[in-house]
Amino acid sequence: MSINSIPSVRSEAEELREINAILLETFSNCDELKSDILQYSANPRKDLQDFKEKLVDLAEMQKDVSAFIKTMETIESEIQEKEEAKEDGKLNFEAVSEIFTESHLSALEDGYTHEEAEKIISAVDAYISDQNSDVSMGNEELLVTATKESFLDPLTKLPIQDPVKSKTCHHSFERSSIWKHLQKYKRCPYSGCVNNLSREDLVEDLALKRELLNMRRNQNK
Ligand SMILES: [Zn+2]
Repeated sequence: MSINSIPSVRSEAEELREINAILLETFSNCDELKSDILQYSANPRKDLQDFKEKLVDLAEMQKDVSAFIKTMETIESEIQEKEEAKEDGKLNFEAVSEIFTESHLSALEDGYTHEEAEKIISAVDAYISDQNSDVSMGNEELLVTATKESFLDPLTKLPIQDPVKSKTCHHSFERSSIWKHLQKYKRCPYSGCVNNLSREDLVEDLALKRELLNMRRNQNK
C-alpha cells in the first residue's frame, strides 16, 4: 500500500469511515436488541451479560477505527502542508510510521467509548450487579413488591414509561421528570432519601423496564 499520496490516504480514510458508520448503526440497533432480550429472554441476566460482552468488543473496535480515522486525517494534513510549501509532496516511510504511531496511540489514550454503547453497557452492568445482590440476599420476592410500587414516578405520580435509576441509592424515576428535577436540585427526590444525585448517576433501569414490557405484553393479550 502506498500511503504517501493524498488520494490513497483519502481512500483509506473513506473506507474506515464506512466501517465506522456500520459500527455506529450497530450501536443504535443494540438498543432495540437489548429491549428484546429484556422482554423475551427466559434468562435475561445471562443473555444480557453475553450481549454486553459483545457490545464491549464492538465498542473497542469502534474506538480503534476512529483512532485510525484521526491518524489518516493527520497524515493527510501533513502531506498537504508539504505540498503547499512546494516541498516534495511525499512523506517517507519512517515519517509516516512515526505520525501513525504517535497519533494513533494518543487517539486511543483518549479512552473514549461511544456514548450510545457506553449507556447500554453501564445500564446492563447496573442491572446485573443488582440482580446478583438481590439473589444472594434472597430478596427476589421483595424485589417484585418493590418494583410494583415503583411503577409510578415518585415526582409526577404518573406511570413510568422510560425508567432510569440512581446507581447510588437505586431509586427509579421517569427519565424526563428526574432530568427536570436535577436542573434545579442536586438531591434524590425520593421521599426519605438523602443522597446527592446528578444526571451522571442515572442509568436505564432494565429490571423495571422488563417488568413494564411484560406488563404491557400481558395487557395486550
Ligand atoms: Zn434516592
